[in-house]
Parts: sequence; structure tokens; C-alpha cells
Amino acid sequence: MMARSKAAPRSPVSRSARLRWSTGSELLRLVHSEPGITRTEASDRLSLASGATTELIERLRGARLLGEHPAPRSGPGRPTTSLHAHPLGPLVIVVDLRTAGWRVLLGDLAGETSEVEAGFYGDEQPAQFLPRIARSVTRAAEQSRGRARAVAVVVAGTVTGSRLLQFATRGWSEADLGMLTEGLPASSPLRLLAGNDATLGGLAEARTGAARGARVALHILVAVGVGGVLLVDEQPMTGARGAGGEYGHLPFGDPELVCPCGARGCWDLMVDGRALARHRGDPPPDDPVAYATRLLGDLTRGVISDPAARHAIELVAHDLGAGIAGLVNLHDPELITIAGVAPLIRHAAPEAFDRGYQNGLMTFHRRETPAILDGLHGDEGPVLGALSLGVDEITSPTALARWGELTSGG
Ligand SMILES: [Zn+2]
Repeated sequence: MMARSKAAPRSPVSRSARLRWSTGSELLRLVHSEPGITRTEASDRLSLASGATTELIERLRGARLLGEHPAPRSGPGRPTTSLHAHPLGPLVIVVDLRTAGWRVLLGDLAGETSEVEAGFYGDEQPAQFLPRIARSVTRAAEQSRGRARAVAVVVAGTVTGSRLLQFATRGWSEADLGMLTEGLPASSPLRLLAGNDATLGGLAEARTGAARGARVALHILVAVGVGGVLLVDEQPMTGARGAGGEYGHLPFGDPELVCPCGARGCWDLMVDGRALARHRGDPPPDDPVAYATRLLGDLTRGVISDPAARHAIELVAHDLGAGIAGLVNLHDPELITIAGVAPLIRHAAPEAFDRGYQNGLMTFHRRETPAILDGLHGDEGPVLGALSLGVDEITSPTALARWGELTSGG
């Protein structure tokens, strides 16, 4: 997960200007993680005196960064207010490039999103459809009337910097995601950020989901294959080029099987719809996610009960649990969140999953086994994570100082 500047660098923001916005940055990030947090709670969390809180909130409201509403009274004490995104505050353009299709959305500090446009790829290659999506990004920027301050892209594939290397199932060639911002006026450069769906889904769980508050959390997404990310203090550890977390290509699998990535024995081939079809004796599915979702749903509802299907899901659930145990031995997380097809796999064969998990853990981990929780955000996780990535950008002291120059709060 990396960033790239589109246009020529602007004049630097001075150190004193950055310092002036640093507490504001902390407060806005707190409101992002906990929209509607009360003024009292926020001031406690940041250890701010009440006079300083009042001054800060006034300044952020004046700069159109923060909204404030009366909070419902709860018990004794002075009445307080709740903190929200300002209705005219900065926005992030989120581009969602998922297997099934694409979307362009606008999102605010508090995690509210609205869709600008959506479409399908057809049989096109990225060089053909990215310019179409770029026009939609330009439209989103126009719609925002100058409020859009960053573009964050979610990709269901491998990303390094702003380059798309591999897209899960579609066999796309390499492409530069930088073309997504090429239609924007050079006078309003927007930073382009990109990350893969597993990383960004993990970021969303750490910021606002099931892993909130965990110092070290592991996130696992099963879609076509399996990816994930380790989050330390809510920051994804994505390696030097942003391409880390390719857990699916660890050799937890069958060494006889060759993975499309070029390696043998990848875990990827053991835990998704392709694995279910192989174990069941079905041909490789065109859409492994749809295949897995249908089969697991049918099994859970009792629509089908053939022993081959039951056996297939038990093998897959076991291999998913066992691989996660290996990652627990590696990373020692406080907890694990799972998303995509993974919760369905676990719920369809909980005993097999748990057997794989427990048996794979080193003894000392079994005494205090890290909990595996279903992700809170479901399929929206990656988009919300991209929004968080964009919010980090637009609430940086440097970005706030620039925004402040445009508003009365500067
Ligand atoms: Zn592989």
C-alpha cells in the first residue's frame, strides 16, 4: 500500500503550520474511528483541558472540518455534544476494483459513503477500462466541488505502489493505476493511494471494526485464494513496496499442485471455491467465490447433504484453520478477524476448522488461544479501509494546513 503524487510538488508546509494542526489531526482521526464520540469523551481521550478543547473544536468547525450536535443526556454531569464530519468537509474518492465489477464512491471523515458510478469490465483489459473509470473519478471530483482531497483505490489483486501486478481471477496484465487521476485538473492535485482488498479490509476492521483496540491483529480474507495483513497499532504492515501479506502463497498446501502465481504447494489452492470444487470432483469454477458461497449456503441450510460435499468442506475448513494457526505462530496476534468466504467456511464446518486451528498452534498458544472473530464490515470492509487510508491522508497536519488555507480556519 503506497502513495504517489500526481502533479508537481507544491510549496512545502512549514513545521510550525504542521504543529498548529497536529492536535486537530488527532481529534479528527478519533472522530473517524468513533463517529459521534462526545466532546467530553474526546477531550479525555486526548488529555485536553476543557479550554483547549473548546478552542480546538471552534477552530475545526470554522475550518469546515468538524460538525457538532447536541448529545442526548446520559446521567448526571454537564450536557455535552457529539462530534461528526462537517457537512462541507473534505472527502475521499474511493475506487473499488473488485472481481465482480467496479464502483466509484465519495466518502467522508465519519465513514459515510455515496456511490457516484458503478460498472462492469466485460472482456476488457485494464488499459481499456481504466480510462472509463478515470472519467468517473473526474466526475466525482467535480461533484465534490473541491472537497475531494485524495483518491484511494481498492484492488482485488496484488498492488505495489500504484501498479497493479496481478488481478485475482481475470488474468489482467500489469497496469498503472496512476491513469485513474489523469483527468483531474493539474491545479488540484489529489494524492493517489492504493491497496489490496485484504489489506484494506484489515485496516477497516482495525480502525472501526472487530479488531478495534487490538495492538496486534491479524486479518484474513478468503475470496479467490487467501490474503491478509498484520496490523500493529492499527497500521498495516505491508512491506517495502506495499505487496506484503500474500499469505496465500506460503507453502501450506499440496506440493503436487502448481499455483497460478508460479509456485508449488500454495495455501491459496486449499481454502477457496477452487479447493471445494476439486475435493468434490467438480470442474474448476469460473467464479470461485460464487461457487463457494452457493455450496456453503446450501450445506448450511441443509439443501444438499451429499457426503462428498460435506467431506470437501471439512477438508477446506481444516486447512483454513491450520494455516491460520501457522500465522499465529509466526505473528503472535492478540486476535484474528476473518472475512470474505472464510466466516462461511468456518460456520459450515466448525469442528474441522477448530481441529485444524488447535492442532496447528504451538503449545503455549493453546493456553491463551487468540480468538478468531468474523469481521464486522463484511464485503464493505475493503471500501471502508480505502476510505480510512484516504482519511489518514486528508487529516495529516500537512493536508489540514493546506485545507485551512482555503477556509476561514486557516
Ligand atoms: Zn501461489
